[in-house]
Amino acid sequence: MLSRAATATLTAATHGSDSAAAPATLAATIDTAGQVATVVLIVIVAVAFYLLTCLIWPFGKCRRCKGVGKFKSPFGKAYRHCGKCEGSGLRVRLGRHVINHMRAVRGAGQNSTSKADKR
Ligand SMILES: [Zn+2]
Repeated sequence: MLSRAATATLTAATHGSDSAAAPATLAATIDTAGQVATVVLIVIVAVAFYLLTCLIWPFGKCRRCKGVGKFKSPFGKAYRHCGKCEGSGLRVRLGRHVINHMRAVRGAGQNSTSKADKR
């Protein structure tokens, strides 16, 4: 889609005196705008779906210990906890961080009003 729009623009640029080039460029622009809107819509739906999954399943596997939560010693039964997840083996997903941030911002607003109500 990009190459077609570029070609139309190039044609308009090279044949600047030609009056027929202007409607063609306009049609190409409208077509591209529609495609961009479609892509934006798909991205919005995908992000909304991802945030929904982060609402239901907020944790992923810790990337350092691969969800085990500990590292075994090469000898004996000794082990140590993973430093990144502190032994839980869990990692908070990126989308959940976004949700938590949005909730914190909204909660801060509610707290300030509730304090005002108490006075
Ligand atoms: Zn870990």
